[in-house]
Amino acid sequence: MSTYDVVIVGGGAAGLSAALVLSRARRKVLVVDSGAPRNAPAPHMHGFLSRDGMPPRELLAIGREEVEGYGGEVLDGVVTELVPDGTSGFWVLLADGRRISARRLLVTTGLHDELPDIPGLADRWARDVLHCPYCHGYEVRDQRLGVLGGSADSVRYAHIVRQWAKDVVFFAPAGFLTAQQRTEMLARAIGVVEGTVQQVVVQDDHLSGVEMDDGRTVPRDALFVPPRFRPNNDLLAGLGCELDAAGFAVRDSNGQTTVPGVFIAGNVANPRAQVITAAGEGSTSAAAINADLVEEDIRDAVRAFNLGY
Ligand SMILES: Cc1cc2nc3c(=O)[nH]c(=O)nc-3n(C[C@H](O)[C@H](O)[C@H](O)COP(=O)(O)OP(=O)(O)OC[C@H]3O[C@@H](n4cnc5c(N)ncnc54)[C@H](O)[C@@H]3O)c2cc1C
Repeated sequence: MSTYDVVIVGGGAAGLSAALVLSRARRKVLVVDSGAPRNAPAPHMHGFLSRDGMPPRELLAIGREEVEGYGGEVLDGVVTELVPDGTSGFWVLLADGRRISARRLLVTTGLHDELPDIPGLADRWARDVLHCPYCHGYEVRDQRLGVLGGSADSVRYAHIVRQWAKDVVFFAPAGFLTAQQRTEMLARAIGVVEGTVQQVVVQDDHLSGVEMDDGRTVPRDALFVPPRFRPNNDLLAGLGCELDAAGFAVRDSNGQTTVPGVFIAGNVANPRAQVITAAGEGSTSAAAINADLVEEDIRDAVRAFNLGY
């Protein structure tokens, strides 16, 4: 069985960007991807210089083609386990029973967004229930916007959303806001509606309002919801990578985790990474992995030289 220099788990922006750099560095690279990038529900991708407005799938299809053009391989599949092989390499186990050998691993499996359990919310996700004003704020500019309060950073988030519209309402659980926070919202003309959100109201396949537990419906065109980020890091935990308090694997500035030879990039490491950032992190890790492999190549060459091979 031939060994890949690098197996990349996850073929989103981070993984494909790394694969492009590594295949151009003439490394034998395999990307295994289960086909569920985080932004798949969104019709368009924004904020990626020169690709603004492109459907997310199109970026990845072009990326795959570019990787394959340099001899990189892309496989549709699910990686179920990563196992050290007893030397400096790893075994990559796939759901279909295949076992692949790799000198280094790059894990770019992304994250999943956990939404509050409010009726109707999940159905509108990426349409008019939104999480990232930098991704979608411009598309709903000057509309009637809402921000779901309750989480630690939701107040700051509401002030950021205010950048895109004058009519912003913050939905705050009773007793959530401090006096200072109320003053700041008042000063910036952010409305405050207190109580428990009962459900989102939809008319003609558009969000029309937010219904409160006292029966009021506050008309809104879009609702920003700060989700909870859950890294897809079971494979990393299984390898024994150290995780931080939020559950993200600890890494250095090159994406090297606490397990030598295992690197991470993109949303699995950094929940704030947008597509362009994830691609950049993939590129950074790729160069670091290549450098790490070169070090190993030197050691192997010297050993062989000294043995007279
Ligand atoms: C609704 C929505 C809209 C967004 N819009 C924008 C936008 O307009 N602009 C922007 O910059 N950002 C946007 N983002 C953020 C964007 O989705 C992320 O920045 C980007 O997807 C991160 O890339 P990634 O490669 O780290 O992860 P992902 O793109 O999530 O890719 C991870 C890949 O790993 C695969 N994978 C996971 N586990 C396994 C496994 N065990 N085996 C094999 N493969 C596996 C997945 O199937 C997936 O293809 C949006 C996010 C959401 C939720």
